[in-house]
Amino acid sequence: MITIRRADLYKLISHAKSCLPEEGCGLVGGRTEGNDRHIEAVYLLENKDHSDVHFSIDPKDQIAAIKDMRSKGLVQIGNWHSHPETPSRPSEEDIRLSYDSTSSYLILSIMDRDAPVLNSFRVAERRDVTKEELVIIE
Ligand SMILES: [Zn+2]
Repeated sequence: MITIRRADLYKLISHAKSCLPEEGCGLVGGRTEGNDRHIEAVYLLENKDHSDVHFSIDPKDQIAAIKDMRSKGLVQIGNWHSHPETPSRPSEEDIRLSYDSTSSYLILSIMDRDAPVLNSFRVAERRDVTKEELVIIE
């Protein structure tokens, strides 16, 4: 199970909309408790690809975000990106580029601008996609 605060979800939605027509992206940090992961901080980072179908994060931005997580006693749990015009599931490319099987890959679809959908996935061996149970907390 993975949890995210509603306020953090709203941050992702508003950033994703501000990036349109490009994909928005960033990292998520938090705490782990056995198999449970609790997102405590979301990072809104520049999509270096400036694309509506790809994203990449500058390693410098990634390092700065991880430093900030450490200063708060958090660890990197995974990353997030938006799908401006497609559903909330990994694209072929997302799966191909999912190098870290321990990371959560959060995908926020804003194809329906009034009803965004967030899902979280794990990808094993850049092939096997599993949806994680995502719980929104207040
Ligand atoms: Zn994607």
